[in-house]
Amino acid sequence: MVRKAKRRSRDEILDAMRADKDLDLARHDPAATFGWDKDGARAALRGDLATVHELQTRLFAEGTRSLLVVLQAMDAGGKDGVLRNVLTGLNPAGVEVTSFGVPTDLELAHDYLWRVHDAGPSRGRIGVFNRSHYEDVLVVRVKHLVPASHWRKRYDHINRFERMLVDEGTAIVKLFLHISSEEQRSRLQDRLDSPDERWKFRLGDLDDRRLWPQYMDAYRDALARTSTAHAPWYVVPGDRKWVRNLAVAHVLRDALEHLDPQYPEPEAGLDGIIVT
Ligand code: ADP
Repeated sequence: MVRKAKRRSRDEILDAMRADKDLDLARHDPAATFGWDKDGARAALRGDLATVHELQTRLFAEGTRSLLVVLQAMDAGGKDGVLRNVLTGLNPAGVEVTSFGVPTDLELAHDYLWRVHDAGPSRGRIGVFNRSHYEDVLVVRVKHLVPASHWRKRYDHINRFERMLVDEGTAIVKLFLHISSEEQRSRLQDRLDSPDERWKFRLGDLDDRRLWPQYMDAYRDALARTSTAHAPWYVVPGDRKWVRNLAVAHVLRDALEHLDPQYPEPEAGLDGIIVT
């Protein structure tokens, strides 16, 4: 007889994914299911998203606080999939997605947090960073774009910067979509082989792939050093898209429930008014 694994609850899944200073990525299985199956996870995702939409409406109406969602992953790690599957359906007026690519000359003429601070969500909004200031301790470290003495100080800057955002009313959650090297190989090959997806493929992706171990070290250090109570990192299992989507929705729902946004008090004197 095959025993069915017990489905882990939302809180158990969040606990299992939360990174701490002793993070060991090898102990986070990219193919984890948390005891869920595809159909069950899809139904649970719909439930989470309904709650997320309701809470987003309140956040927008309240108009005083905001939520920042940081998305990081290796190439083909599923950032676009999360944007398509989890963040669709939100009120677009209340969501600001910013993609961070190779810095422009103007951006390079400033400190590395300059472009990031400017892109933070305004009050009432959910801001999504598709890549982020973490690139400045990831690609910058792995590709030796600045000396180590320089990027090493950045963990501390980032913690202080995020603390300031939280103090000023922006809740922060950070998601590392964790795929296996084999899953990346297969997704990149699919991209190459599919006429509709080939445009996404960059030869540079292969250079980054060769640097996989160095990237994993950089991710480990970044997550371990900057996962704080006020701005936690979650290691999201990324190999199965349906698990990933549910796990991300859990994080969003939990963050918004903690914010517990409220509709503002309506103006006084509205009782009994008939609109003609
Ligand atoms: P994505 O891979 O996110 O879909 P792109 O193909 O445009 O988007 O890639 C963005 C590229 O920009 C990535 O290779 C990333 O490493 C790079 N990048 C982002 N931030 C920085 C930075 N601060 N310094 C150098 N490169 C960066």
